[in-house]
Amino acid sequence: MIRIGVIGIQGAIHAHEASLMCAASAIGALIDVHVLRHPEQISNIDGFVMPGGESTAMRLAGSSILSALFERLEHESELPVLATCAGAILLADPGGDMDPLIDVEITRNAWGRQKESFEASIRTTLPEPPDAHSKISTIEDARELSMTRTALGSPSSDVETRSGLMPAVFIRAPKFGDLGPSCEAIAWLGDEVVGVRSGHKVAVSFHPELTSDFRIHLSFIQSCLI
Ligand code: GLN
Repeated sequence: MIRIGVIGIQGAIHAHEASLMCAASAIGALIDVHVLRHPEQISNIDGFVMPGGESTAMRLAGSSILSALFERLEHESELPVLATCAGAILLADPGGDMDPLIDVEITRNAWGRQKESFEASIRTTLPEPPDAHSKISTIEDARELSMTRTALGSPSSDVETRSGLMPAVFIRAPKFGDLGPSCEAIAWLGDEVVGVRSGHKVAVSFHPELTSDFRIHLSFIQSCLI
């Protein structure tokens, strides 16, 4: 049983839970999702979801749980994290004198104001999630799928040929800037990078929990299985 913690300060917490459950059931993975609101809940968790919201408010309202989370992530660099929108801002810029927990520049509100929020089709290197008829039904199958994905390697100029389109919701979203050497892009809107991965950490500037395409959550669960 994988213990997944959704940081419960703000954002579409229950939508994340639903996407996690869909993804887990598609591959037969057993997960136990906890909404985390207290620092002492951080210790016993195998992977974290950091939802969107408003990063300044989250820093204020969630300072104690975020400190506990950041401290654990700093010491256990392999811990899987899925950080969405404001969550991505916090992961890339934890604040205080902490180094980024994912090595990418990020600028808040860079797509415009709240009323300029939008939906779009993005390109991604992540494979489409398996459907109900998939042969993937065990954790072993999930591990194999995960290894196949890793073997595909990082995106390159032929990304068009092997990437799929995926719907994405951008709500007063941030933009990624330069990617550090440990980071690879995994999703694009036009030429703009909208998703990055570094080891088992994924940060996206959009809200994968608000569409029925759960491949981002699936990839996160697969990271937790490794
Ligand atoms: N604009 C928000 C921020 O800067 C992020 C928005 C979101 O998470 N949808 O924190």
